[in-house]
Amino acid sequence: MSLPKKVAVIGAGTMGNGIAQVFASHGVQTVLCDVNDAAVHRGIDAIAKSLDRFVKKGTLTEAQKSETLGRIGKSTDVEGACFGIDLLVEAVFENLDVKAEIFKKADRGAPPHAILASNTSSISITRIAAATKRADRVIGMHFMNPVPLMKLVEVIRGHATSDETTNWVLGAAQGLGKVPVAAQDYPGFISNRVLMPMINEAAFCLMEGVATREGIDEIMKLGMNHPMGPLQLADFIGLDVCVNILDVLKDGLGDDKYRACPLLRRMVAAGYLGRKSGRGFYEYTT
Ligand code: NAD
Repeated sequence: MSLPKKVAVIGAGTMGNGIAQVFASHGVQTVLCDVNDAAVHRGIDAIAKSLDRFVKKGTLTEAQKSETLGRIGKSTDVEGACFGIDLLVEAVFENLDVKAEIFKKADRGAPPHAILASNTSSISITRIAAATKRADRVIGMHFMNPVPLMKLVEVIRGHATSDETTNWVLGAAQGLGKVPVAAQDYPGFISNRVLMPMINEAAFCLMEGVATREGIDEIMKLGMNHPMGPLQLADFIGLDVCVNILDVLKDGLGDDKYRACPLLRRMVAAGYLGRKSGRGFYEYTT
């Protein structure tokens, strides 16, 4: 277990602010970087709210909260944020061009020993690594949402990722109190390759009238001991995100069995994106 001394987290959204919180909570000097000050401040606010919940639960003191926030620096410049880091974790939009641009800048700004990781859910680590001159030091570090609570980190080795890089990142994830699991760089890695077909099949069941939305979710919760049914989980992830990942699986693996259910596509077209749009398979008021 070896924690980095300094980390840059690029992207202060849902995942980035959670990742920054976890590093800072473990004593790591952390720089949170996004496109503008407002986005960085939204990220810091989200971290403060999350830490407040731990204070209320009694698992964190006010002093520890302040210390954690005090370890987080702010930046709007990727290259500058990479000065003196040991590790970068990128958590920006799921778009190869945007990520490649960040990795190019990070490759210029970070010291030669630094490892560059992406939190991508579905983009090839090998392709991201190709934007840099240090493909042996590029890796996937796929945290789960919500980051402070979820134990798993899927660690994805690109084609050129070295054993040294992989072992260091596995150790760093353990240092954060997480459980890392290594995977090779094939479409969807492990988590989404197994999860998305289940969600897709649940959508087919609903489309074909096999059961109601509640019936489908209840079967998987009570019968398989899943904490959330697949349709509820799809709403939580975002139906547009699910369709995108299914497309990545179908194209990358060249197999029609991953084709997205027409009902999922129709709901996305209608703007029913899940929790974030107030409506998906279920309706949300908060
Ligand atoms: P998000 O939309 O909440 O946040 C993305 C952030 O990146 C935004 O704040 C945006 O301003 C910032 N950003 C965009 N371009 C940037 C740039 N050039 N420089 C700096 N910042 C930039 O997205 P998210 O849900 O946090 O997802 C981020 C990544 O994590 C994606 O690759 C996604 O696939 C992956 N992921 C998401 C989840 C999830 O449940 N949300 C789970 C696992 C992995």
